[in-house]
Amino acid sequence: MRIAVLGAGSMGHGIAQVSAMAGHDVILRDIETGFVEDGLDGIRENLQGGVDREKLTEAELEETLERIEGTTDLADAVADADLVVEAVPEDMDLKQEVFADVEAAADEDTVIASNTSSLSVTEMASALEHPERAVGLHFFNPPHIMDLVEIVIAEQTAERTEEFAVDYVRGIDKTDVVVRDTAGFATSRLGLALGLEAIRMVEQGVASPADIDEGMELGYGHPMGPIELTDHVGLDVRLHIAEHLREELGERFKPPQSLRRKVRAGKLGKKTGEGYYVWEDGERVGTSGDWGQGSTQGDANT
Ligand code: NAD
Repeated sequence: MRIAVLGAGSMGHGIAQVSAMAGHDVILRDIETGFVEDGLDGIRENLQGGVDREKLTEAELEETLERIEGTTDLADAVADADLVVEAVPEDMDLKQEVFADVEAAADEDTVIASNTSSLSVTEMASALEHPERAVGLHFFNPPHIMDLVEIVIAEQTAERTEEFAVDYVRGIDKTDVVVRDTAGFATSRLGLALGLEAIRMVEQGVASPADIDEGMELGYGHPMGPIELTDHVGLDVRLHIAEHLREELGERFKPPQSLRRKVRAGKLGKKTGEGYYVWEDGERVGTSGDWGQGSTQGDANT
């Protein structure tokens, strides 16, 4: 199968990689050559990591890379594609524009998928003349490690599109869950509910971020606690999704004050060096003390 992935950022390059590893021909498109190259470099690094851990042979690395092409030309990317997966930034206007541009350049039966983590696939599909070919394919970060893909069924999605999506996901050796197109789908909604409540608990002085996280890790078997996960995902990303879910689902998704405050201060989590924790060289080295415990504090749990 031929697959076009639009957007070579965090998610796009990973989706291209897992598709190529399963034997598909992939074309990765971004708006600037530099972004395409960064995406291709990311894929090479991931694959090399696999070789180093002896999960992949050198030959498999080379074969996978040979199946991936990069481009900045949208028409080239989607012309002969059986499936197009968009992984451009989380913005409805942009996604609708991309969907419409893809439809204008692709075959009539090309399936058009979105990797959105929270936006309405139904609304995106409404930008198409043939919306029955639209579906959500919600990969998790990083796609080459995470096993799950949420298949999001829009109001207009045809049964054959759903079947195509299920076959694709199983064919790349991932596990699918099929969800109706509702705000936050199944996973973002529940994951965020946990994250927001954990932040409110920190604000109320119930426990430190480190203790709340450790409680969920050791007590509930979560691989990472909800506050550390917020730092990983990015506080700005979580705030954005919370605002969207509040609008769609109600006040229980109202963003906590400290989340807004930190985003305004540019404390976005791991990527900026501080969120609810303090980070150095990608490692958690302390707890950010903004909730009234002085400045940065040492973190006994790291
Ligand atoms: P990102 O910012 O890392 O990458 C987006 C890329 O899209 C950038 O390289 C940008 O140059 C490119 N782009 C912008 N306009 C484009 C266009 N018209 N055509 C092609 N490329 C274009 O973003 P990301 O984190 O990879 O997120 C992409 C999508 O995946 C979003 O919808 C996001 O909600 C979703 N998602 C993200 C995560 C995550 O953890 N990062 C997880 C699941 C889903």
